[in-house]
Order: sequence, then structure tokens, then C-alpha cells
Amino acid sequence: MPQLPTVAIIGRPNTGKSTLFNRLVGRRQAIVSEIPGTTRDHVAGVIEDAEVPYLLIDTGGMGGGTEDEKMEDDVHAQSLLAIEHADVILFTINSREELTASDFEVTDILRKRRRKHVPVLIVVTKCDNPEQMEMALPSYHELGIAEEIFPISAPHRIGTDELENAIAEELRKLHFEKDTRHETQETTTPRIALIGQPNVGKSSLINALMAEPDRLKSPKLVSDVPGTTRDATDTVIRREDKEFIFVDTAGLRKSAHSHAEELEGLSVLRTVQAIEHCDVAVLLLDAVKPVGKQDKRIARMAMEAGKGLILVVNKIDLLNTEKKAEKRTEIQTALMFCRFAPVLFCSAKTKEGLLKMFDLLEMVQRSRLRRISTAELHNWFGQAVQGGPMGSVASAKHITQAEDIPPTFVLFVKDPKKVQLSQLRFLDNRLRESFGFEGTPVRWITKRSAQTQYRSSFA
Ligand code: GDP
Repeated sequence: MPQLPTVAIIGRPNTGKSTLFNRLVGRRQAIVSEIPGTTRDHVAGVIEDAEVPYLLIDTGGMGGGTEDEKMEDDVHAQSLLAIEHADVILFTINSREELTASDFEVTDILRKRRRKHVPVLIVVTKCDNPEQMEMALPSYHELGIAEEIFPISAPHRIGTDELENAIAEELRKLHFEKDTRHETQETTTPRIALIGQPNVGKSSLINALMAEPDRLKSPKLVSDVPGTTRDATDTVIRREDKEFIFVDTAGLRKSAHSHAEELEGLSVLRTVQAIEHCDVAVLLLDAVKPVGKQDKRIARMAMEAGKGLILVVNKIDLLNTEKKAEKRTEIQTALMFCRFAPVLFCSAKTKEGLLKMFDLLEMVQRSRLRRISTAELHNWFGQAVQGGPMGSVASAKHITQAEDIPPTFVLFVKDPKKVQLSQLRFLDNRLRESFGFEGTPVRWITKRSAQTQYRSSFA
């Protein structure tokens, strides 16, 4: 997984942010049908098939679905998030309405506070009619923050190609390229994201790991080329002969919480980025706090992004044996949807259990890279479907593992539309009973068996 550049969409409500987001990520989502996931949090998506792949973030959706609903409307906070984290900013303006105080507020923040090399592209939305644009164009230029202005109509695909080209161009100027360098590293050096709510002990954990003698460490060497400097935020931890890259840890290492860091949304954005940049996510849970909505949301994000997942319960020095057992049960219930994830109890303070994390990380990374031969799968499938509620799936003609991470299985059936989620869940459970795949989500793709040529890869 390369260190992807981040493109952030900001703009006041009703300027078409999420329509633009969906249009830009749309192609990817059309390819993959994901199974264990429920609804996708439309907040972030990797645009892999772009000329220069990038992580797209809708900062307006950052607070959606959390206690932090204010964020939804808070352009001020969005702008700060974008300034802090984005390599390119897309600023949406609604062509059908007059510019409002909020639009000017965003402009003001961008003008005063953005880093000089971060380009802003103004995206004028809902331009189904070019005449509307002609009239409004001068006022957008007068805002004076964007070199280029892109009129688009996302639902009608007007102007979106031009916008995509411009994004690629800006990313190239920042020296981001389509880069396979990290993809080859992936098999050897797993990238780990340490995520969790504020105060759960992320900094303490990374510091405790850094303090372990003989095992560590060295912030990754980086070049000064803009765009590649992000790697400076990583921490490399060595244990015995193995290396683990903990991504996006700069803030954690320093324990420095900037002013913007205090914004609830920023920790969400940091989390989204860290998840997208990692192979395995380590979700920290607080031993003395109940599993919350936000914890579930983060776990779901990692799962839906296809990342490995380990649940680490920190601060167990505060629990007696009885409470530990209760905590385990609580986690099993609250996070039922990701029960493939191993659970580790530890304390960053006393270091109890800490080093076991590395064994789990190795195990999960192995699961993610594991390949089952087609012959073995065929054998397994015949037995797995026996006696199960499988309907027409039982007569599937072919199953194969795609060359993809996370493990992805392609099932060829007569009519993919008839395959039910419950049937795929059943298969998922049987697959795990037989082959493990601890700590990694597994994806299922169904295809029509009438196809003359079987493809071993769906992407
Ligand atoms: P972060 O916001 O997730 O980075 O959390 P911090 O690492 O800053 O920790 C928040 C608070 O929890 C601090 O006061 C830590 O001292 C405390 N803390 C962290 N880990 C543990 C632990 O294992 N046991 C106990 N008792 N306290 C801890």
C-alpha cells in the first residue's frame, strides 16, 4: 500500500460534496461487491484506478453518524481538517445559489492558513446548464484562491473528466506518482495503524514499544521531496529480525495535540487516513470504558477497507480477573460483526501483554497473504455446502481465490442475483473453520458461470 496522497472535499452543506465524492469513487465501488460489510460510511475512498491513485475524503461527512453531528455543517472545522491533512483541496460551490457567508468563510481560512504548496480547485457544482456558469464565473475568480475553476454536473458526468485530469496533474506536480515500490514491500514489512479514541492510550502504547530495548526503532528515512515527506510520520519498530511500520504516528510520538487536534473530526480524519495507509489496523479499546459507537464505527471502517484488524484492550492493569472476563464478553457482543479479529489484553503502563501484539500482527499479515489452491477450494466447497441452507449456490460450478488482498474468493454460479447474503456468510464461516484467516476480512465475489472465460482476478 503506497502512502497515498489525500484529496479533501470541503464546502458548505448542499454544495454537492457527497454527489461529487460518489462520482469520483463510483467506478471502484461498481467493481467490488463486498459482503460482510453493511452500509459504507461515505467518508473516504481510495481511487485506485486514477492516473495517480489517491485517498479521497469528504470532510463534510466526517462527523456523520457520530455524536458529533455539528461537524456536518461546520465548514470552519472542515476547512481546518483539509488544511491540516490534504495534498489537494476541492472546494465545492453551488452554481445555483448566491455565494454565502459560509463560502466566504471557507475562502478566508484557505487563503490565510493553507500551506503554500497545497492547491485549491474550485468545483462549481450542479452546472447542468453552462449559461448559469457564464454568469457566475467572475465572482468565483474574485475569490482569489484557486487558479482553476471546474464547472461540473456530477450526476450527468459533465466536467468530471476534466476535474479528474486536473487532480492527477496537481498530484504529479507534488511528485506523487503511480508507485509500485511499496506494493512489493507489503509482503515483507506490514504497515500497522494504531487507532482508537482520544485518551485510550495510543501514544502511551507507541512510547512503550519504542522504549523496549533492542527491538526498535528509527523514524523512517525520508527524502525532502514534497509529497513523500509523509513517511516522516511513520515509526519503524524492529522485533527480532522483523520490521513493522507503524503509520501516521508523528502526532502520537510527540504527544503534541495541536489546536486543530482538539476538534473531534480531526481524530476521525487521522483515523481514516491511517486505516487507508495500513495493512493491519490495531484498534485500541479502553478497559474501563464501554465499547462505544465510535469504536464500532472505526472497526467497521477498517473492515470495509479490507484491512487486517486486531482489537487491543488497553489499561488492563485497572481490571481484576472477573472484570476482564466481563470485558471479553462485552467486546464479543458489541463487536460481533468483526469476530474474525483477535483480541489482546494489555497495559501500556505495566507492559503486560504488550509484546504478544507482534505475534498477532505476524499472524494477521500471514492470513492476509494466504493463498488456497483452486483444487483445495473445490474440495472444501463440496463439503462445505453439504446440508447447509445454500439453495442454488450449492451447484456453483467453480470457485477460485483472486490474486488480491484481503483474501478474495470468486464464486461462479448460475445466477449471481439469487445469491443471498446469508449464504455467503455461511460460506464465510465454513471457510474460516477450515482455513483460519484470523484477523482479516474476506471478500466474496459472485459471477455468472456462463462466462466462457474464468478470470482469476476481478480487479
Ligand atoms: P491517546 O490519546 O490515545 O494517545 O492516549 P494517551 O497515550 O495520551 O493516554 C491517555 C491517558 O491514559 C494518559 O493519562 C495515560 O497515562 C493513560 N494510560 C495509557 N495507557 C494506560 C495503561 O495501560 N494503564 C493505565 N492505567 N493508564 C494508561
